[in-house]
Amino acid sequence: MSTKIEIVKADITKMSVDAIVNAANTSLLGGGGVDGAIHRAGGSAILEDCRKIIAKQGGCKVGEAVITTAGKLPAKYVIHTVGPVWNGGNKHEAEKLASCYTKALLLAKDHHCKSVAFPNISTGIYKFPKELAAQIAFETVYRFVMEQPYFEKIVFVCFDDENYKYANNQMQKLKLST
Ligand code: ADP
Repeated sequence: MSTKIEIVKADITKMSVDAIVNAANTSLLGGGGVDGAIHRAGGSAILEDCRKIIAKQGGCKVGEAVITTAGKLPAKYVIHTVGPVWNGGNKHEAEKLASCYTKALLLAKDHHCKSVAFPNISTGIYKFPKELAAQIAFETVYRFVMEQPYFEKIVFVCFDDENYKYANNQMQKLKLST
C-alpha cells in the first residue's frame, strides 16, 4: 500500500486526521503560533495530558516527540514535537528537524494512527529557513513512508504562502525522482 502525501493551506486544528503534530516547545506548557492555536481549540484536556508527561519526564527535548489527547479537536491525538531554533545552521538544526518528523511518525505508528498532519515545524518563531525546512520535511517523511509502508495519508498543512510554495516545489521534485 502506498502512502498519499498531500499539501493543503489550512488551519491544522481543523484537520480530521488520526493525529495532528504540534510545533511545541520544551516546556510543553503551550506557547504562541500553532501551539497556542492547538491548545485554544482543543481545550484544557491537552494541557492536562502535557502536565502528566511533565511530571513523568520533565517536558520534551528538541527533536523528540510526545503524544496526548486532542481534546475537542477533530483529530484523535496531538503529537507534540519540539523543533530546533535556527541558530545559523551549524548547531545540528537540520538533523534535529529531521528527527522531529521521524519521531512523530514513529509515535503515530505506535498509536495506530493511519493519517497524520504536520505543520511547518520551526518555520515560525524558531526562524528555520522555510525552503530548507520544506526540503528536510519532505525528504524525511518520504524516506520513512517508503521504508515503512504503514500510513494511508500524510498531510503537510501550510499556513502561509511561502511555506505552501516550498512544499509544492518539494512535492514536484519527489514526483520527478520517482
Ligand atoms: P516554531 O516555534 O516551531 O517556529 P510556530 O508555531 O511559530 O512554531 O510556527 C510553525 C509554523 O506553524 C509556521 O509556519 C506558522 O505559520 C504555522 N502556523 C501557525 N498557526 C497555525 C495553524 N493554526 N495551523 C497550521 N499552521 C500554523
